[in-house]
Amino acid sequence: MSHDPSCIFCKIVAGQIPAKKVHEDDQVLVFHDIHPWAPVHILLIPKIHIASMADLQPEHAALMGHMSTLVPRLMRELGVNNGFRTVINTGADGGQEVYHLHMHAMGGPRPWLKG
Ligand code: 5GP
Ligand code: ZN
Repeated sequence: MSHDPSCIFCKIVAGQIPAKKVHEDDQVLVFHDIHPWAPVHILLIPKIHIASMADLQPEHAALMGHMSTLVPRLMRELGVNNGFRTVINTGADGGQEVYHLHMHAMGGPRPWLKG
C-alpha cells in the first residue's frame, strides 16, 4: 500500500495535518518532531507508506540510501556542527510508536531531554 488513510505520517505527506517541513522531494519528506528530545530533532520519512524497517524490501535500497545521505546535509543546514544521532525504532520491542517508517535525526548542544 503506497498510502494508508489512517496513518498520521501519510496524512502529513498528503498535507492533511500540518508539520514544520525541513525538506521535501519526490521520495522523502522531512519535518521537525512535534516533541523534540534535542535542540534539533527531525524525522525523515518516505512518502510511500512503509510500516516499519521490518517491511523493507530490496527495491527500497535506493530510497533508504537517499534518506541516509540527506541527513548530514540537512543537519548542517540546521546549524548542527558537533555531531548528531540517528535512530530508527522498529516494532514493539524497538519502541516504535508511529507505524510509518521514519528516521530520527537529533543534534544540537547537550543536555538533551532524552538520549
Ligand atoms: P517512534 O517512537 O515511532 O520512533 O517515534 C514517533 C515520533 O513521531 C515521536 O518522536 C513523536 O514525537 C513524533 N510524532 C508523533 N506524531 C507526530 C505529529 O503529528 N507530528 C510530528 N511532527 N511529529 C509527530
Ligand atoms: Zn503512512
